[in-house]
Amino acid sequence: MIKEVKEKESVFESLSDLGHEQVVYCHDKASGLKAIIGVHNTVLGPAVGGTRMWMYENEAQALHDVLRLSRGMTFKNAVAGLNAGGGKAVIIGDARKHKNESLLRAFGNFIENLNGKYITAEDVGMTARDMEFIKMQTDYVSGLPDYLGGLGDPSPHTAYGTYMGMKAAAKVAYGKDSLEGKKVTVQGVGSVGKMLIEYLIKENCEVFVSDYYQDRLQEVANQHKVTAVGLEEIYDVEADIYSPCALGATINDDSLSRLKCDIIVGCANNQLEDEEKHGDQCIDKNIIYAPDFVVNSGGVINVYSEFMGGGEKWTQAYTEMIYDKSLKILQTSYNERKNSQQVAIESAMERINSIASIH
Ligand code: NAD
Repeated sequence: MIKEVKEKESVFESLSDLGHEQVVYCHDKASGLKAIIGVHNTVLGPAVGGTRMWMYENEAQALHDVLRLSRGMTFKNAVAGLNAGGGKAVIIGDARKHKNESLLRAFGNFIENLNGKYITAEDVGMTARDMEFIKMQTDYVSGLPDYLGGLGDPSPHTAYGTYMGMKAAAKVAYGKDSLEGKKVTVQGVGSVGKMLIEYLIKENCEVFVSDYYQDRLQEVANQHKVTAVGLEEIYDVEADIYSPCALGATINDDSLSRLKCDIIVGCANNQLEDEEKHGDQCIDKNIIYAPDFVVNSGGVINVYSEFMGGGEKWTQAYTEMIYDKSLKILQTSYNERKNSQQVAIESAMERINSIASIH
């Protein structure tokens, strides 16, 4: 179980609990950069994972996020079959107000200092154009725009992989992977969420959406046949499938007491507020929960492919494998009535330990 970092007496205690190798605090007075890079595990290869820019209320919250996110990347990259370890970075600030060239380039210098131990890309609040500024200072960046030879925004691949995971979950819950006629709530219609709803609409799902930004919500509601609902209301919609595509920890005591769905599958990282407790509650409530790091690896598959020269066909093939990997994990969880997050972590650790033993 992951406890709040702020409850800990020392950062080292958190690092030891979660198994991190290294955490780097990055500060640049001139640009106002305040960032934290978390390198969780590099057994399989360099730590690969995006950078998130968010309005954290305090440093403890940012540290808590980066520690959870980087650990999740270790499992995600392992299950996806990549030769990459887990890492992640967070920049403290409002991406709409504080992000600029100097801040991003200062951040790039810190990544360069790690000499290839950590490779970054986009996450919440970051774009392919931002990666271009980071690239001016370091080569350890992926998710670059196509005019720089990159494979561009990883979000479409994340959306497709999440859709694959949703179909696998439907197969376990309903016996067939068609989503035809299902009611789906999509929380967060950012880069990934808005692409996911396109697949759902094509399969004739009834889609309900929410977003923190009203302008974004309205834009999506104007473009697609979806119903916009409030930030809190989303948990009370009587849907078959809940898809968390915003930030983490939305599967918690409150939401689980309100959700009436059969399936939870979304792209957001770290959806379970408490992996053990809320993963177990999903089993008790007969909800098929598809572990986030299993279904949302399409983006990192694309980022890794760009960095290693895998190409588009390779990316597509690996992203499609998310269906089979999700099916195997969810079927085991369903048959054994075992916390699906635990099943998925065991699968990731099995690969990491087996590769570690051949070094
Ligand atoms: P994004 O910033 O483009 O979109 C996130 C959206 O969620 C924003 O529109 C934001 O306003 C909204 N949001 C925030 N809090 C909300 C709330 N409480 N209720 C409703 N909406 C809320 O980010 P994204 O790239 O679409 O990523 C979404 C999630 O998926 C994140 O958790 C991210 O870490 C994860 N993820 C993204 C990728 C990727 O390829 N982009 C890959 C793997 C995982």
